[in-house]
Amino acid sequence: MIIVLKPNISKKDEVAVLKEIRKLGYKPHIMRGVERTVIGAIGDERTHGSLETLSAWTQVENVMPVQKRYKLVSREAHRGNSTINVRGNLIGGKKFQVMAGPCSVESEKQLLTTAHAVKAAGATILRGGAFKPRTSPYEFQGLGEKGLKMLAKARKETGLGIITELLSQDHADMVAEYTDIIQIGARNAQNFQLLIAAAKTGKPVMLKRGLSMKIEEWLLAGEYILANENANLMFCERGIRTFETYTRNTLDLSTIPIIKKESHCPIVIDPSQGAGRADLVVAMCKGAVAMGADALLIEVHPNPAEAWSDGAQQVTLEGFVKLMEELKPFITAAGRE
Ligand code: PEP
Ligand code: MN
Repeated sequence: MIIVLKPNISKKDEVAVLKEIRKLGYKPHIMRGVERTVIGAIGDERTHGSLETLSAWTQVENVMPVQKRYKLVSREAHRGNSTINVRGNLIGGKKFQVMAGPCSVESEKQLLTTAHAVKAAGATILRGGAFKPRTSPYEFQGLGEKGLKMLAKARKETGLGIITELLSQDHADMVAEYTDIIQIGARNAQNFQLLIAAAKTGKPVMLKRGLSMKIEEWLLAGEYILANENANLMFCERGIRTFETYTRNTLDLSTIPIIKKESHCPIVIDPSQGAGRADLVVAMCKGAVAMGADALLIEVHPNPAEAWSDGAQQVTLEGFVKLMEELKPFITAAGRE
């Protein structure tokens, strides 16, 4: 840690700070500038006391970490890009992956119709929520295990991999039994006990960005997966809460180059929750592909007007076919297949 002292503090105040640093178990290294004195505190923060408390001292201006707080998700921890194998499809590899399907699993017919259609159009993974995190307790909450069984049936019929959300630790084993990828939703992105439970299932985890989560917090949440012996983590940007009302969220595409720079884990873009509007999905997808995303997560429904959740943002089956066609030149231009 670096401790910056306020200008013109007394010798006595400086000595008190040095004494505290030593008391916490660190070796202070003093650097005197013209106006300011800066102290480097040397020692392992995992086994020593926290230096953060010094920021409350009147003679201290700032306490700053020297190293990044995340380690295992960082590029330094792993050379090259990590890839995640989902039923033979590599996420984070040369081939661009598309995960598509309804927001919620509603019925066998709805799911199977969608699954066959998205597969024919080129998707490799089927999405569908069986446990839904709804803002109101009076809205459809998902079919639960019945929905998971339908997802498993759709996988058997189509060969598509499955991704579905895990809402509660109580369901970790159950969801893992059916799914190929566990989705951690935006509302649970910092539910650390849930992250640990998801990691421990051993299934690949897709971690959405929280509604108002800083990128550093998101990377640190991802650290929970890797620190719990699960190497198969992918991040998913799905838009953040801003002042804008034309869109449901503000899809932050800057996360693509930032995650690519900071981490070896794949990055997925969800334009559906991001825009909240079906008419914007194609443009957002093109942008995401061009900026180097590894995969897309797109909501597709046979009849969005009658969807049990997120009707306004789901594209139709025909719309999805057209979208996949329009994406092709962008995928090629981005150096992907
Ligand atoms: C979803 O994918 O349907 C969903 C609820 O996502 P998020 O957690 O990003 O809101
Ligand atoms: Mn949704």
